[in-house]
Amino acid sequence: LSVDQLEEARRALDAPLFADLAGDAEVSFEFFPPKTEKMAQTLWQSIQTLAPLGPRFVSVTYGAGGSTRERTHATVARIQRETPLNAAAHLTCVEASKDEINQVAEEYWAAGVRHIVALRGDPPSEGAKFQARPDGYQNAADLVAGLKRLHPFEISVAAYPECHPDSADQAADLDNLKRKLDAGANRAITQFFFSPEAFFNFRDAAAAAGIDAEIVPGILPVSNVAQTRKFAGMCGAQIPAWMDRLFDGLDDHPDARKLIAATVAAEMVRKLYAGGVRHFHFYTLNRAELSFAICHLLGLRANGAKVEAAA
Ligand code: FAD
Repeated sequence: LSVDQLEEARRALDAPLFADLAGDAEVSFEFFPPKTEKMAQTLWQSIQTLAPLGPRFVSVTYGAGGSTRERTHATVARIQRETPLNAAAHLTCVEASKDEINQVAEEYWAAGVRHIVALRGDPPSEGAKFQARPDGYQNAADLVAGLKRLHPFEISVAAYPECHPDSADQAADLDNLKRKLDAGANRAITQFFFSPEAFFNFRDAAAAAGIDAEIVPGILPVSNVAQTRKFAGMCGAQIPAWMDRLFDGLDDHPDARKLIAATVAAEMVRKLYAGGVRHFHFYTLNRAELSFAICHLLGLRANGAKVEAAA
C-alpha cells in the first residue's frame, strides 16, 4: 500500500458514525437569485427551513456577466433585512468596468451587507477565453484588492481542488489562490468535487504553498448526474464513473435518486469530517431538503431562529 492509501484507510477507520457526531460543524448555504415569483417562494421556503440551523452565512450567486445584478441585490438585501442570517453577495468582474463594480459594492455596503464572494466570472459565450476589460478588474485577486480599498468587507474567494481549466497546473492555481488571499480575502470556498482525497490533497498542497487561510469544501448533493456533468465540464470538476453507475436506471424514480444523492453527499461529508473539516458550504440549488438532511446527520439542530413566511 502507498502512503496515500494507508492514510485513506486510516481516515476511513477514524470516520465517526453519524450517531456520534457532536454537532460541532458549521455550515453555510448557497442560493441563486430566483427568476419568477414561484421560484422566489421556493427559495424563501428553503431559507425558512435552513435558517434555524444557524449557518455562518448564506450566499447568493451572481449570474454570468452580471445578468442577475438586480435580482442578486434584491435577494441578498432581503435576506439581510428580514432574517437574522448573515448574507453574502457573489460579485464577478467579467464584462464590467471598475466603476460599475464599485457601484454595486457600495450599494451592498449601504444595505448593511458586509460579506462578498469575489469572483472573476466566466466569459458570456461558452468555450470563449476570458478577456479582462481595460477599464475593469483583471481577475479575482484584482477585484479583492479593489473591494478592500472601498470598505473592510469580509471576502470569500473560489478554489479548485481539481484545478481551474484556465490554469497550467496546480502550482499555478495555488499561486493564484495565494494572490487572492494576500490581496485580503478571508477564506476560500471550493468548487464542488466528489473525491474527498482530491480535497485533502489540495488542502495539503495549499498548506505546503504557505496558504493558511480556511479552505471550505463546497458540497453539491447531486440527484441529476446529466445536469451536473454539463456544468462540471466548464468548471474544473470531475464526475466519477461510479456516479453514473449509482444513478443508472433511476430516471423514473425521483425519490430513489434523492435518497442516493443524500447518501453519497452524507458519506463524503463524513469522510471530510474525519479529515478535520468543520465548515461545509452547501450548493443548495435553492432546495432545502437534501442539505437539511445532511446537516441533520452532521448533528446540527434548529437553534430556534425563525424566518417569517414570504409575503
Ligand atoms: P480567478 O481566481 O481570477 O482565476 C481563474 C483562473 O485563471 C485561476 O485558477 C488561474 O489559474 C488563472 N489566472 C487568473 N489570474 C491569473 C494570473 N494573473 N496569472 C496566471 N493565471 C491566472 N461564477 C459566476 O458567474 N457567478 C457566481 O456567483 C459564481 N460563484 C462561484 C462560487 C464558488 C464557490 C466557485 C468555486 C465558483 C463560482 N463561480 C461563479 C465560477 C467562477 O466565476 C469561475 O470558476 C471563473 O472561471 C473563475 O473565477 P475565479 O474567481 O476563480 O477566477
